Amino acid sequence: MSRSINLAVIPGDGIGQEVVAEGLKVLSAVLPQDVKLETKEYDFGARRYHATGETLTDADLDALKQHDAILLGAIGDPGVPSGVLERGFLLKLRFAFDHHVNLRPSKLLPGVATPLAGQPEIDFVVVREGTEGPYTGNGGTIRKGTEHEVATEVSVNTAFGVERVVRDAFARAQARPRKKLTLVHKNNVLTFAGHLWTNIFNKVAAEYPDVTTDYIHVDAATIYLVTDPGRFDVIVTDNLFGDIITDLAAAVSGGIGVAASGNINPSREFPSMFEPVHGSAPDIAGQGKADPTATVLSVALLLRHLGHDAEAARIEDAVSADLAERGGLPARSTSDIGDALAARVAG
Ligand code: ATP
Ligand code: MG
Repeated sequence: MSRSINLAVIPGDGIGQEVVAEGLKVLSAVLPQDVKLETKEYDFGARRYHATGETLTDADLDALKQHDAILLGAIGDPGVPSGVLERGFLLKLRFAFDHHVNLRPSKLLPGVATPLAGQPEIDFVVVREGTEGPYTGNGGTIRKGTEHEVATEVSVNTAFGVERVVRDAFARAQARPRKKLTLVHKNNVLTFAGHLWTNIFNKVAAEYPDVTTDYIHVDAATIYLVTDPGRFDVIVTDNLFGDIITDLAAAVSGGIGVAASGNINPSREFPSMFEPVHGSAPDIAGQGKADPTATVLSVALLLRHLGHDAEAARIEDAVSADLAERGGLPARSTSDIGDALAARVAG
């Protein structure tokens, strides 16, 4: 645990600006006096792109590298062609800083509405591989624009890449009370990648005799996430499967307003980045309607990553208490929720 935090702040687009302000409010309130917080804001996103044509330069990466961690709001804008900011900023940063662990906890907190029947126990973490699978840009098009166009998007799976994320997931599972890890893949059809994942998973499992292991095909996993989410503790899965099941996980465990995530470089060679799962939500931007809870919970993940466990727990407790009280109350503004959470963590 460090006595200072040098944080890069990227509010980004749309509601990113609004929710990050509240995340910082809560972060300042929770830190003890003797932990020095320094923040530097970066203007990445649609405005920078429109003004300069840049998304993320090498100089930007050098600047970001100096920080202990990054807090991101959201990047994305209807006025920017699809893919430009996703590939030019989000994926570029993920590959440059080797954010190979994408961490997405799902916990259904008391008082939070779920589309599922009753109030099921939901408390699991998805460890999604972040730098391989079909996201590497390994593919191409031939006969483009013709009736005979062919497109490939190759899923890249390396023993190195799979083993490091599987090891990270085992360590996380071992640190949780239930100590259970489920591999989600499609190894009956995607047999080449599936066998690599399964073999490495089984090899590492032998080193963790106290962790219960389980395997589920990704299609079946979508069923269980709805019918029996309580069976999951930690899930490890590939990049694309992880993308899809974590949106479903967010939907069943309180929705996009409370879903937090971390893009983690476990070796700490590069700063890790924490962000709400939701996007820039242009439909509600600038109206004070965005729920900052997902960002505040992302700040808790950030603090835990930096070793400030007690402060992270205080934020999570504050969010639980706040959500438990919300039912039946009139909807509050973004800054009202931020103020309430800041007051709770400080008090
Ligand atoms: P992106 O491409 O940036 O991910 P998107 O349109 O796919 O954007 P979101 O920006 O996450 O997805 O928005 C999806 C829906 O969820 C929108 O209707 C939006 O208003 C709503 N939404 C997203 N985040 C929040 C939030 N923090 N609080 C309340 N509603 C939200
Ligand atoms: Mg989206």
